[in-house]
Amino acid sequence: MSYDTECVFCRIIEKKIPSAIIYEDPYVISFLDINPRFKGHALVVPKVHVSTLDQLSDEATAHLFVVVKHIAKNLVENLGAAGYNITINNGRVAGQVVPHLHVHIIPRYEDKRQGVGFEAVFPVDEEAKTTLNDIAEKVKLTREIKPIFKDKEKEEQKGNEEKEKAENSEKSSKASSLPYESEYFNDDGTPKFK
Ligand SMILES: [Zn+2]
Repeated sequence: MSYDTECVFCRIIEKKIPSAIIYEDPYVISFLDINPRFKGHALVVPKVHVSTLDQLSDEATAHLFVVVKHIAKNLVENLGAAGYNITINNGRVAGQVVPHLHVHIIPRYEDKRQGVGFEAVFPVDEEAKTTLNDIAEKVKLTREIKPIFKDKEKEEQKGNEEKEKAENSEKSSKASSLPYESEYFNDDGTPKFK
């Protein structure tokens, strides 16, 4: 992993600064925010030093968000939260303070309903509201993004076709039992990184 010695999160990852770690694997670390907005406010941080989400590989992004989901579930179940916000501030203009990508998971509680909803943070931009179609034209993503996971229906179809080919039968049954593309994931489900 490429660490930045000036970066506070890289120093946390390297255990040079203590933190309240709640999860760690070879690619991702999660610890509690030192300035919690609500009880259990956690950060999930890829171990590779990139500043914003668009700089992270597809594989690392997929793994990051799977971890985010599990940590959110764990926070809800153990802290009695009624919901949670997931936020990433990308860039200084968006309020990013530490320039190392991090996902905020902020548990929300019924008895602390301040700052509920988008309105509390961003009022509606009335000018942007009148130009939705123009903006959509500018930002349309026309290429199809290939899913990082296997399409189970297609795989089953492919599996049936391959059954007829005796020499491949063993290989295909192994592949169809995997939930993910083997080019992205190891047999044990951990992600591969280039
Ligand atoms: Zn860093």
